[in-house]
Amino acid sequence: MSSLILILGDQLSSSISSLSGADKARDTVLMAEIVEEATYVRHHQKKVAFIFSAMRHFAKELEGEGWRVDYVKLDSSGNSGSFAGEVGRALKRHDVARIKVTEPGEWRVLEMMHAWNAAFDLPVHILPDDRFICSGDEFAAWAEGRKQFRMEYFYREMRRKTRLLMDGDQPVGGQWNFDKHNRKPAKSNLFMPDIARFKPDDVTRDVLTLVAARFGNHFGDLEPFGFAVTRADAKTAFDGFLKHALPHFGDYQDAMLRDEKFLYHAVVSPYLNAGLLDPIEMCRQAEAEYRAGRAPLNAVEGFIRQIIGWREYVRGIYWLKMPEYVTQNYLGASRSLPDFYWTGETEMACVRAAVIQTREEAYAHHIQRLMVTGNFAMLAGVDPAFVCEWYLAVYADAYEWVELPNTLGMSQFADGGLLGSKPYAAGGAYINKMSDYCKGCHYDVREKIGERACPFNYLYWDFLARNKDKLRGNQRLAPMYRVLEKMDEDRLRAIVESAQAFLDGLSSSVGYSALPQPTAKKKKAASLEGAARR
Ligand SMILES: Cc1cc2nc3c(=O)[nH]c(=O)nc-3n(C[C@H](O)[C@H](O)[C@H](O)COP(=O)(O)OP(=O)(O)OC[C@H]3O[C@@H](n4cnc5c(N)ncnc54)[C@H](O)[C@@H]3O)c2cc1C
Ligand code: SF4
Repeated sequence: MSSLILILGDQLSSSISSLSGADKARDTVLMAEIVEEATYVRHHQKKVAFIFSAMRHFAKELEGEGWRVDYVKLDSSGNSGSFAGEVGRALKRHDVARIKVTEPGEWRVLEMMHAWNAAFDLPVHILPDDRFICSGDEFAAWAEGRKQFRMEYFYREMRRKTRLLMDGDQPVGGQWNFDKHNRKPAKSNLFMPDIARFKPDDVTRDVLTLVAARFGNHFGDLEPFGFAVTRADAKTAFDGFLKHALPHFGDYQDAMLRDEKFLYHAVVSPYLNAGLLDPIEMCRQAEAEYRAGRAPLNAVEGFIRQIIGWREYVRGIYWLKMPEYVTQNYLGASRSLPDFYWTGETEMACVRAAVIQTREEAYAHHIQRLMVTGNFAMLAGVDPAFVCEWYLAVYADAYEWVELPNTLGMSQFADGGLLGSKPYAAGGAYINKMSDYCKGCHYDVREKIGERACPFNYLYWDFLARNKDKLRGNQRLAPMYRVLEKMDEDRLRAIVESAQAFLDGLSSSVGYSALPQPTAKKKKAASLEGAARR
C-alpha cells in the first residue's frame, strides 16, 4: 500500500518513525514550508530561517538516500499555507492509499491531523515519536496516583531505563543528583570558548532572502546567521561543547555574565528539538567523556539530567495535561507584557541583556529565561498567556511541548505547583550573586524601596504579599512568609507603593500592534489592550 509520508519541520531525523518500514520505490515524502506555522505566533526571524533551511537540507539528504521527496517551498506556486491544504494538494499529485506521519509536538497540530481521515477519505497513520525516551502512556502510568509530580523521581526511572551513568542498579558515584556541587556564581574571568557558527551556504542564503522579504517584521535579527542546518554540522557543534564546555557545565550552570551569552551551555536545543541530534546518542557521548576522565561526574550527570530528566518530564506533563494546561493561570495574573520584552528598552540591566541577546541570537540560557525574564513577568503579574506566547515566538528551540510547561509551569507557577514545588521568585540579591549585571545598572541592587531601588526587590515582596492566600501554605515559602509577617507595616506599605509606581509606569502597547499578535486561541487584542492594571 503506497503512502504519503508527511515530515514536519521538527522531524528532521532519518530514523523518524514515519520513515521506518516505508518503501522508497513506492512511497512519497511530503515536506512543506507553511506560512500558517511561521505566523500563528510570529516566530523570531532566525528561527524561521533555521527551520526552513534545515528542512531544505534534510530533503536533499533524503533524496540522496533514494527517497522521492515532494518539497513545497514557501513561495512555490499554489502553496496553500496550511498543512491540510498541502496534504490535500499532494494527494492530487500522488496516487497513494494512506497518509503516514509521526505525531507532532503540538496538541493543535495533532487535533488538525485527527480531522484528516474524514477530510481526505484515507487512512491516516499517526505514529509515536520514538525519538523520546518516555512515551505518553509510560508517563501517564508514572503519574497515575501521584498527588505531586517531581522531576527527580521521574529522572531516576529514566536513568534505570536508559542505563546511563549506572553501576548495576546503583547510580554511578552513589548519588542520583550532583546539583549541590553545581550553581557556582559567575566570576569575571569565566568564559566559554566561542560556540560553533556556520557560514550560510547557497541554500541558507536563499532562505535568508525569503525570510527577510516575508517575515522581516517579525521580532529578532536575521543576520548574522550562524546556526548549523545539517546533522553533520549540528554534531560538530555538539562535539565542540563536549570538548570545551562540558567539563564546566555543572559548576556554572546558573551563572550569568554580561559579555558571555553562552558560558558553558551546550547551545544545541534548536538542533535537538528539530531532530538533527539524537538525545540518547548525546547522553552516551557525554557519559563517555566522564568514563574517559575528561569531564567530572557533576557536569556529566547534570547534563544528562537536563536531557533525560527535564526534557522528557516537561514533554510528559504537556501531553498529560493538554489541552487544559494552556489556560492555567493559578495566580490570576492579568497584566499585559511590557514593551521592553520586544524592544529591550529598560533600565534594568539584567532584563535588557537577556532581551537584546534574545533578539540577536534567538537564544538565552536557562537561568536568563527562568530568573530574569520569567521571574520579572511573574513578579509583575503578567498574564501567563502573553508570557508563553513571547517564549514560543522568540527562541529558536521553542515548540509548544517544551516551551509551555517550562514557561507556564516552571517559570510562572501558573499550574499551581504541578510541575515544580515552588515559584521561582527571587529579588535582586539572587541576580547579583549569580551575575555581573548589577554592576553598572541604573538601579541599586542593595536598595529595597524608592526610585533607584532594584525593581526585583520590591516586586518580590509585593508578589508574596499580593499572592498570600495562594502561596502562604507552600512549605518552601514558609520562611519568606514569616519575614513578611514580621515586617513593619510602614515598610510593607512603602514596598507596595514602590511596586505600584513602577508597574504603573510600564508601557505595554508595542506587543499588540507592530510586533507579534496574540493568537486567536488566547485572548483577543481588544481585551488585551484593556487588560487590568492594578
Ligand atoms: C521560561 C522557559 C522557557 C523555556 N523554553 C524552552 C523551549 O521553548 N525549548 C527548549 O528546548 N527549552 C526551553 N527551556 C529550557 C532551557 O532553558 C533550554 O532548553 C536551554 O536554555 C537550551 O539551551 P542549551 O542547549 O544551551 O541548554 P543546556 O543548558 O546546555 O542544557 C542541555 C540541554 O538540556 C535540555 N534542557 C535543559 N533544561 C531543559 C528544560 N527545562 N526543559 C527541556 N529541556 C531542557 C535542552 O535540550 C538543552 O539543549 C525553557 C526554560 C524556561 C525557564
Ligand atoms: S540591580 Fe536589579 S534590575 Fe539592575 S541588574 Fe541587578 S537585579 Fe537587575
